[in-house]
Amino acid sequence: MATTKPKQNGDKNRKVPQRRCVGCGGTFDKKELLRIVRTPAEKDANGEPVPADSTAERILIDFTGKKSGRGAYICKKEECLAKARKAGRLKSSLECEITDAVYEELAKEIRLG
Ligand SMILES: [Zn+2]
Repeated sequence: MATTKPKQNGDKNRKVPQRRCVGCGGTFDKKELLRIVRTPAEKDANGEPVPADSTAERILIDFTGKKSGRGAYICKKEECLAKARKAGRLKSSLECEITDAVYEELAKEIRLG
């Protein structure tokens, strides 16, 4: 039996995480994309999950890439945002309604670069 051990210096095998853009459908390095995250259901004062239809403020742009929740990725390009918006792909990826405010925030981020 051969003992397989990961090579310490095998940096040509180093994988950059790849994610798919919801606009153009292309796959890119995670760091090239904006992450949009649907954060887990918040609890109300009674400890009950907030109803699913009040999801609007739970959609965030995740600048750290580390927030927990369902995520979607998009290129930092207005055309990708427009495509994703038109096709409702953010909505289907995140399984909730995406408000205009979210799209506006994304558009602003993209314009700022
Ligand atoms: Zn794209």
